[in-house]
Amino acid sequence: MPAVTWSSKSTEGQARSGVLHTPHGEVRTPAFMPVGTRAAVKTVDTDDLESLGTEIVLANTYHLMLRPGSELIGELGGLHEFMSWDKPILTDSGGFQIFSLDPEIDESGATFKSIYDGQTVQLSPEDAVMVQQQLGPDIAMVLDVCVGLPAPEEKVEAEMRRTLRWAERCLEAHDKKDQALFGIVQGGINDQLRAESARLTSALGFDGFGIGGLSVGESAEDRRRALAAAVAELPEDKPRYVMGLGDTDGLLDAIERGADMFDCVLPTRLARHGKALTRFGDFNVNRSEFENDETPIDEECGCLTCSRYSKAYLRHLIRMRELSAQRLLTIHNLQYTLDLVAGAREAIEAGRLKSHIDELKVARESGSP
Ligand SMILES: [Zn+2]
Repeated sequence: MPAVTWSSKSTEGQARSGVLHTPHGEVRTPAFMPVGTRAAVKTVDTDDLESLGTEIVLANTYHLMLRPGSELIGELGGLHEFMSWDKPILTDSGGFQIFSLDPEIDESGATFKSIYDGQTVQLSPEDAVMVQQQLGPDIAMVLDVCVGLPAPEEKVEAEMRRTLRWAERCLEAHDKKDQALFGIVQGGINDQLRAESARLTSALGFDGFGIGGLSVGESAEDRRRALAAAVAELPEDKPRYVMGLGDTDGLLDAIERGADMFDCVLPTRLARHGKALTRFGDFNVNRSEFENDETPIDEECGCLTCSRYSKAYLRHLIRMRELSAQRLLTIHNLQYTLDLVAGAREAIEAGRLKSHIDELKVARESGSP
């Protein structure tokens, strides 16, 4: 029995809801994973994450292997114990972060400079697996090669094929029985490469599949096509995770096309810049019109921030650079995103995802509560 399995609950067109079964409990899908880059979701703690109804968090292999080191985290009982989170955790392999550092890539792996002390670090696919086995998340990811878009077709294809070879090596190196390993589909915005990558990665026999290299500046239309091409070649009974996607339209689009899992720094990053995500569109809480506004960010939001604090108060905290402003907005934006995905899940189960998405569009276009 694999460490992580996924079972389908309902479908509507390509969209589906289901349950991910992991060693640390169940996750209802579609699911959004708040990003805890350094084993912490910025400005909030694990108690906050539980209150928000978070069922799974993501942590970052690249950062944790450099600081404080995966060996140390392993000695301290693994990531769950280290960060005091006993629900599921997924770690990304670090591919995306490493490739934003312009590394040297050869068949053996990636060579790059640490952002912490400038030292040269080498990471092979086998190392990425070993590091994640030490960290001990429920789900580990293979080391993939991300290509920034736009890129020449030959490069996209060559790196897609390298990702496949590395995926095989990762699978060979992985022997932690209570941990799942997901493969990653690449192929840029080329439908044929996406389909081929998905088909060949599936054939290797992973427990689930990341769809990487999207949400990197391509158009929504190109992303939809690439996603549909990949999903069509992935097995029905395994989870599909669109990496790095988390804006409202992108999430709804991907859910409609059969994706199950997501992560993105956007909700938390925007919060730290004073921006609130809402059903009626996004706005900056620091706007002067909120100076004496006694209403919450969203009256229908059930988060701590909206149940207790007015926009006038939050605006004041932002202007005074009070640290609690970042935490309170992060709590709200995570609640918004978790609720958005949960709302889509419930709509699939009620067989009304299409009309649900249309209603959300109307509310966003109206622009005001
Ligand atoms: Zn709220």
